[in-house]
Parts: sequence; structure tokens; C-alpha cells
Amino acid sequence: MTRTRIIFLGPPGAGKGTQAQRIAESLDIPHISTGEILRNAIASQTPLGKKAQGYVDQGKLVPDELLFDLVRDRLQQSDANKGWILDGFPRTVGQASFLENLLQELNQTNDYCALNLEVPDEILITRLLSRGRRDDNEETIRTRLDVYRNETAPVIDFYRSRSALKDINGDRPMEEVAESLKQVVAA
Ligand code: AMP
Repeated sequence: MTRTRIIFLGPPGAGKGTQAQRIAESLDIPHISTGEILRNAIASQTPLGKKAQGYVDQGKLVPDELLFDLVRDRLQQSDANKGWILDGFPRTVGQASFLENLLQELNQTNDYCALNLEVPDEILITRLLSRGRRDDNEETIRTRLDVYRNETAPVIDFYRSRSALKDINGDRPMEEVAESLKQVVAA
């Protein structure tokens, strides 16, 4: 069985969610978005949702202890045997180290690739403002971009130093980006 394990990196508004969903469908693997899991938990006001709400609404990172068990459980569900695409996790070098250990524990090391979807800042802000999600207001967007630069951008180097990183130009029409991603994933 071919397994594809993809860690999808890129700033908020780069189009990761849409592209990840397409890749997941075409490869028949689960699209695991920590942001989506959190938004669903908030919408149904589960204990996780109640704890995460303040952070998500302000564009801040939800504490690791709320996410680590969730990611560990999700990657062990049976549908994740076929592979997975992780969208929005890891977001810090600490989370990347956690994931590295987890994959080792699950015997899935050295068997993933990290895709980095690159989009310039001015485009991100326009896209985010037109999206209308609960955390898409100007102040929250500014916080999320700051968090991305300070906390998440170093994750790119983490995977580059492991020779697992592939950069993709996300500042192109959606179909073109999808085509590039398809080629990179198949390579
Ligand atoms: P996203 O849908 O990936 O843009 O995530 C939306 C929000 O969920 C983020 O702004 C964070 O508040 C929270 N979130 C999602 N993934 C993580 C993560 N890996 N670590 C911390 N917070 C996260």
C-alpha cells in the first residue's frame, strides 16, 4: 500500500485548507486540520472548544496541552493508516519536535514530506479579509501573521534541515497551484 504523509505549511490565507482538501480527496487520505477541529469544538461548545475559544478568537496559539493528545489520537485512527495530510500543525518548533517523536513512536519516521506554500503578505491580508471566518477580522489577522512570522516560520527551517521540504509558489491561480502540488506529491 502506498502511504502519503504530508505536512502542509504556509501562512494563514495561503490557501492551505482548500488545496489540502483537494489533495486529500485525490489521494483518498484524511485531511487533518487542527484549526477545523478546534472550530468544530468551539461551535459545539465541547470542553476542548470552551478552553480553545479565547485563543482562536484572538488569533493566538492554543496551548500545546490542548492539542498534543488530539493529534496523537487522530493519527492513530484507522483511516490515517493510509496516510494523511496535516494542515495547521505543527505551528511551532516545539510542536514539530513533538510530531517527530510521535511519528517515531508510530513507526512513521522519514516517511513524510513537508510542503511549504509561499504567498506574499499583501496578498494574504486581502484574501483573509474576503473570507469571513470567525477569526478573520483585521486585528486578529495581524496577530495571526505575527504569530506565523515569529513562531511558525522557523518550522520551515526545521523541515528544510531534514531535507523534507518542498516549496511551492502559492501566488498563482488556484488551479495552477493545485497542479504543482499534484506533481510535487507524486514525485
Ligand atoms: P487555522 O485554521 O489553521 O488557521 O487555525 C485557526 C486557529 O486555530 C489558529 O489561529 C489558532 O488559534 C488555532 N490553532 C490551529 N492549529 C494550531 C496549532 N497547531 N497550535 C496552536 N493553535 C492552533
